[in-house]
Amino acid sequence: MTAKADSWLRCVHCGADYDISDSRYLCTCGGTLDVKRNLSKLDGKELVATWERRWGAKNGVDASGVWRYRELILDIAEDKIVTKREGNTRLYHAGLAAEYAGAKHLLLKHEGENPTGSFKDRGMTCGMTAAMLRGASSVACASTGNTSASMAAYAATVGIPAVIFIPSGKIAYGKLAQALAYGGVTLQIDGNFDDAMALVQDVCAKMGVYLLNSVNPFRIEGQKAIGFEILQQLDWEVPDWFVIPGGNLGNNSALSKGLKELYELGIIDKIPRIAVIQADGANPLYKMWRNKTSYEPVPNPETIATAIKIGNPVSWEKSLRGIEWSDGVVEQVSEQEIMDAKAMVDRAGIGAEPASCCSVAGVRKLVEAGVINPDATIVGILTGNILKDPDAVVGYHKDTLRDIGIEGRFANSPVSIKPTLEEVEKALEGINS
Ligand SMILES: *Cc1c(COP(=O)(O)O)cnc(C)c1O
Ligand SMILES: [Zn+2]
Repeated sequence: MTAKADSWLRCVHCGADYDISDSRYLCTCGGTLDVKRNLSKLDGKELVATWERRWGAKNGVDASGVWRYRELILDIAEDKIVTKREGNTRLYHAGLAAEYAGAKHLLLKHEGENPTGSFKDRGMTCGMTAAMLRGASSVACASTGNTSASMAAYAATVGIPAVIFIPSGKIAYGKLAQALAYGGVTLQIDGNFDDAMALVQDVCAKMGVYLLNSVNPFRIEGQKAIGFEILQQLDWEVPDWFVIPGGNLGNNSALSKGLKELYELGIIDKIPRIAVIQADGANPLYKMWRNKTSYEPVPNPETIATAIKIGNPVSWEKSLRGIEWSDGVVEQVSEQEIMDAKAMVDRAGIGAEPASCCSVAGVRKLVEAGVINPDATIVGILTGNILKDPDAVVGYHKDTLRDIGIEGRFANSPVSIKPTLEEVEKALEGINS
């Protein structure tokens, strides 16, 4: 590695450095890699002025909610960027969901409004750009659904094959549909996500396919832009808390890494606290953090929130580092808590897929426990679109999820009637009162 490079790769575990152009995803020690950059060459005030100038751009890379912040994303010529103008997602007042959570100032950042319906597009634009720079002729990922949907779309954009490894069964219908529709070579493997993840790393190493899971450090760099965009939407006023679901743990790692860079550049003067929320059936980070034990994968992860049904998250070490830096916490929520919170997010007119709603379920639990002050300013991240998992929605509202232990507590069941005015009147009784 050249000693004066502006950015390079560094192992999170042992600190070994590699050249930024090195096509590796892991250190020789097995640790994950970070993109490091020399921040001393950047001026925080100038960066903010540049980003403000780009806000609302109609065309080109400035119109992307990721590449608007490219000084902290990837140093690359603009014409080499593969973008779908991802990001630019809304920040909503949580309304009914805030009342439900017992939080007065809860905002929800809806990453389900990205081009393929999840935050994965923010990482993918950067990952696919890095893939093309390395001359990749095909890309691959293991996925619980959203990564594959995103990767297939970006691969279709540049016209290279996308190879997708998904766990058999239980992948949300909307996500599988997208992977197939965008033309991904979809391999349904007999095993869970963790098995698929192990297999794809082996395949990429042996077959020269470029790996686009969040173990890829460039995915993480792109995802940092969620935090940047939220802060820009808040005129750089730092909220007290960020609350975010955790599966493979890339997204919260990206959030803390990006915030740390802003802090070191003097763009923000306060460190917000980060709460990572896991499903109680897929909770390796929670267990480790709560019990102060060493990392142990969860062997048979189970949750209706399939996007976070992961027992052996690749980014646990980066995640923990960010939680420590931000004086953060890790919480777990039950299946019932996830789906009830989802009913409230949906009912507020916002809507998101099950995993996303861990944010609101987590806020509620942490407010109740006295960890989050009800008066605190909180930004919850909604990671994916409501249409990704229609089975979970309809199951809850028809109250047919009892066999997996979930009651339709706030169910809005469809009503069957005969086509007569009388029956309609009966069904709508009291609707205007
Ligand atoms: C990928 C994903 C998550 C989990 O993010 P990680 O970076 O794996 O922790 C949560 N929700 C949705 C909708 C996702 O697609
Ligand atoms: Zn190492």
